[in-house]
Amino acid sequence: LPGLIDGHIHLDKTLTGLPWMPHQAGPERRSRIDTEKRLRPRFPLSVEARAANLLRQCVAFGTTALRTHVDIDPEIGLSHLHGILAVRETFSDLIDIQIVAFPQSGVLSCPGTAELLDAAIADGADLIGGIDPITMDGTVDGQLDAVFAIAERHGVGIDAHIHDYGTNGLAEITAMAQRTRAHGMTGKVTVSHGFCLGAAAEQDFARVSAAMVDSGMSLVTHGGGASPLPPVKQLRERGIIVFAGNDDVRDTWSPFGKGDMLERAMLLAWRAGFRTDGDLALALDIASTAGAQILGLTKHGLAVGCRADFFCVPCETLAEAVVSRPVRTLVVKAGHVVARHGVLMSA
Ligand SMILES: [Zn+2]
Repeated sequence: LPGLIDGHIHLDKTLTGLPWMPHQAGPERRSRIDTEKRLRPRFPLSVEARAANLLRQCVAFGTTALRTHVDIDPEIGLSHLHGILAVRETFSDLIDIQIVAFPQSGVLSCPGTAELLDAAIADGADLIGGIDPITMDGTVDGQLDAVFAIAERHGVGIDAHIHDYGTNGLAEITAMAQRTRAHGMTGKVTVSHGFCLGAAAEQDFARVSAAMVDSGMSLVTHGGGASPLPPVKQLRERGIIVFAGNDDVRDTWSPFGKGDMLERAMLLAWRAGFRTDGDLALALDIASTAGAQILGLTKHGLAVGCRADFFCVPCETLAEAVVSRPVRTLVVKAGHVVARHGVLMSA
């Protein structure tokens, strides 16, 4: 199969490789943000070491490229970014890594963050992130104005977390679509999560998804267990590229996950009610080829002239691969064997 693509992960947040840490945050997003900020100075391993622990697992599971969001705020400055940039260099023969400068604590409500996002792009981040403009910064416009201005100045794309439900979330996605067209950024903007699309009234879904189509926006989902799932098939039928990522993997936000995108394809299929071979193959495409398209990875696939990023699994069909998530007997990156039977060869 062509290499798996993790389109949304948080390498700097993971606790992979540390002793088990019971989940401490409350049920609200604000509590998760505050809990993480309270605990992270005491983590006994560096960003680099924790990210490397997770990356080894991702590679052994057949992931050949990923997009990671990296926290940026005035407390940690660009330290997490610099850690992930170093890890990207170390792992460059094993996996392609795209980095989003992510304002986890908001932009306007966290003075100094906009300047840090600008500096993050100058230092090597590939895209600008964002998060729930209304909930985090009080208005739709302020955060989006800042984020789109930085993106336009540096000629980079945007991938913003939109968790907000209902009319707030729909207004945020609509405003992103308007700005995407106004700034000439068609095809360069992604909505992460977009839970509101999974619970929208029919006419609202039609209106907002049409705006996404017009601006070439894509959507990345992790199939979150407690949130409405955006209707991935309908979105794709309308021409929107839907791809997938693991999001939080064993961190202060979520105890779940191990970095396996076949497992993510299964969870997504499970949540979407997919049962036919065609639908299960679609889930696999969302976890692989669709992500490659958004990450700009041309020549992804199994054909002469492709980049030889692939893995082998003992199963009969694509559907069976998703359902049974068998051991990856071989993982090849750029023509080199990097893992066998779930075990990394080096690094
Ligand atoms: Zn995320």
